[in-house]
Amino acid sequence: MLQKIDHIGIAVKSIEDARKYYENALGLKCEGVEEVADQKVKTAFFVVGGVHIELLEPTSPDSPIAKYLEKNPHGGIHHIAFLTDDVKSELKSVSEKGVVLINVEPKIGAHGKQIAFLHPKSTFGVLTELCQNGEC
Ligand code: ZN
Repeated sequence: MLQKIDHIGIAVKSIEDARKYYENALGLKCEGVEEVADQKVKTAFFVVGGVHIELLEPTSPDSPIAKYLEKNPHGGIHHIAFLTDDVKSELKSVSEKGVVLINVEPKIGAHGKQIAFLHPKSTFGVLTELCQNGEC
């Protein structure tokens, strides 16, 4: 079952530049920067009202975020992530209802979370992530 919106993923060319807006203009605190090698991104997290803003900077030209930035040079909202207590059963449930999966099996994302993406062609254009907290 979905529990809440966990985070909103925002593609940026440079976390260094973008974090100034979140910190100085919006007054949010950066909770940390982490590289997720598997996804070829560097991430920075901010929190507001229990929902995280996840800034995503590509670490390689073949990163999915680099491709997104080619189409959206100013950056933009890349994905929305829902927290669930069981990614595997959620994936099974949505795929049985006809949703196309990008990840059939969960992968490991930032903070050791299990994550999996649903294809935007069956989510009305919104790249959707399901995530489950790691056991650490
Ligand atoms: Zn995410």
